[in-house]
Amino acid sequence: MSTYTAPIRDMQFVLNEIVGLEDICALPGNEECSVELVESILDEASKFATGVLDPINRVGDRVGHVVKDGVVTTAPGFKEAYKLFAETGWTSMPFSPEFGGQGLPAVVTMAVNEMWKGANMAFGLCPMLTGGAIEAIAHHASEELKQKYLPKMVEGTWTGTMNLTEPNAGSDLAAISTKAKAAGDGTYLVSGTKIFITWGEHDVAENIIHLVLARLPDAPPGLKGISLFIVPKFLVNEDGSLGKRNDLICSSLEHKLGIHGSPTAVMSYGDNEGAVGYLVGEENKGVGYMFTMMNNARVNVGLEGVGIAERAYQHALWYARERVQGAIIGDKSGEKKTILHHPDVRRLLMDVKSRTEAMRTLAYYAAAQIDKAHAGDAVAQARIDLLTPVVKGWSTEQGVELSSNALQVFGGVGFIEETGAAQYYRDSRITTIYEGTTAIQANDLVGRKLAREKVPGAGMKALLAEMSADAAAIAGNAQLAGIAANLKNGIAALSSTSDWILANYATAPQAVHAGSVPFLKLTGIVVGGWLMGKSAQIAAQRIAEGSSDGYYTAKLATANYFAAHQLPFAAAYAAEVVGGAESALGLAEELF
Ligand SMILES: Cc1cc2nc3c(=O)[nH]c(=O)nc-3n(C[C@H](O)[C@H](O)[C@H](O)COP(=O)(O)OP(=O)(O)OC[C@H]3O[C@@H](n4cnc5c(N)ncnc54)[C@H](O)[C@@H]3O)c2cc1C
Repeated sequence: MSTYTAPIRDMQFVLNEIVGLEDICALPGNEECSVELVESILDEASKFATGVLDPINRVGDRVGHVVKDGVVTTAPGFKEAYKLFAETGWTSMPFSPEFGGQGLPAVVTMAVNEMWKGANMAFGLCPMLTGGAIEAIAHHASEELKQKYLPKMVEGTWTGTMNLTEPNAGSDLAAISTKAKAAGDGTYLVSGTKIFITWGEHDVAENIIHLVLARLPDAPPGLKGISLFIVPKFLVNEDGSLGKRNDLICSSLEHKLGIHGSPTAVMSYGDNEGAVGYLVGEENKGVGYMFTMMNNARVNVGLEGVGIAERAYQHALWYARERVQGAIIGDKSGEKKTILHHPDVRRLLMDVKSRTEAMRTLAYYAAAQIDKAHAGDAVAQARIDLLTPVVKGWSTEQGVELSSNALQVFGGVGFIEETGAAQYYRDSRITTIYEGTTAIQANDLVGRKLAREKVPGAGMKALLAEMSADAAAIAGNAQLAGIAANLKNGIAALSSTSDWILANYATAPQAVHAGSVPFLKLTGIVVGGWLMGKSAQIAAQRIAEGSSDGYYTAKLATANYFAAHQLPFAAAYAAEVVGGAESALGLAEELF
């Protein structure tokens, strides 16, 4: 049986040799961080992921949780694992020491979070949502609310949730109808129903701090009339102890395709006297505040694509080394060998390995931009703004494809639940939907991040210029000429397609949006190809310097694969964006 092993060597390569961990540790505020410390953190996290989270992944899927009279009992082992998780400090890593956090850079948290997602994605959602809630409170709430809620959330004693979705308000947040009214004592009374709330009710922590979007009376219609409230499951007394139960209940749990270990709750607020809530920041600014949380969560959901693909790869590789099936084409001995020897199984495994490495590099690169932006770097801020929808949208779409490719390696038993491959495939499927579907990410990319940017297209042009300079440098090494040539073609496709979007966005928005998802995939492939090209350049340099580390040889192979098998799709996506709108939109509605 395969067990999860954190891909520490690849994580360290990306951290140390691509995104420059040492430089990130040298940024103001990161004084506690060092390459050696990160090494030992990764080591400890890897033990936790393998020893505690991976063993309960299957039971989370097969047994799941139960709800009775609003009380949720999580899957066997989850409560104990969460207790240990909080006790060993994993909840506090990225947060400010002011609230008990360890203040570690985002790149370090990114690597550690990948392990939680790889070992047990359903479990990892609980700290992920709590982390988003902490960010939103830390950035926008009053000092009093911060002091009251953050220390307990950072130490993991209380968890957090994000309550946006309602039966009639999913992608369209403007339709939110949950209500809030001033109670006259500085608090508010919240009432309404929220659906699909991840870890909305559970038994792993003492209190649950719900962040809820709701409308005040007389608020303007649409997005400009939504406010954000902290609505705790148990009210918190002045001295920080838990008070009476708030007027909110989990009315049911959803039955889902995957992530069965993560309770997805229908939450009912204010069925009686009204759920007591506390306004975060100013009235009617809730959507903007929630985006602080969503941007954090979006990069983290993109990372789920990485984690689940890595786990699916490890599982498939284990099977490919075990399963003997048939003689191998071209092998004159006729000897029956493991399926790892069949060319197509090799291609499938290489596909998952190479594309997962590209996604990992992109996710950690994005985290490094967060760290630099945090230290005041405006260029890094523009880069993370541009890439957030790409990390989320591209990596999750890849995660689904790659967990499917990994399942294919198993043949028929891959389809049988007992094997476990089906779980990764099912679990991955939600990632392209929550935190904004791929279409919503793509809308964000072509709209706010490109055509409606302050200087339209400026962020993309800066990225294209940097990638072109790197492609030229890579082309200088004859060994990497194939990678450089495909990368240059990909960059040209992204550049011309971006220009087309900029030229047509105002006059033909429907045509642009008919191609927005292909454009997002085009961007992901080219940026992934660029980062894999840089990785190959470093690997070639290390080998030229005399390194005999097989890791570098493997990196050259995965980068070559990405350039040969993925970058050519850039031209196809470009053609789809520029010339595909009419055929996508042309059929009259009644003929569907
Ligand atoms: C397991 C799970 C966990 C979740 N966790 C949470 C949570 O913790 N908190 C929370 O608030 N929500 C949560 N959600 C809700 C999730 O974020 C929404 O389901 C998602 O945003 C999509 O909204 P919807 O389901 O209403 O689909 P709809 O918005 O109805 O979308 C249906 C289809 O239309 C497309 N579409 C809609 N609008 C547009 C547009 N403008 N442009 C292009 N295409 C469009 C979508 O891409 C999709 O293909 C969760 C959902 C699930 C299933």
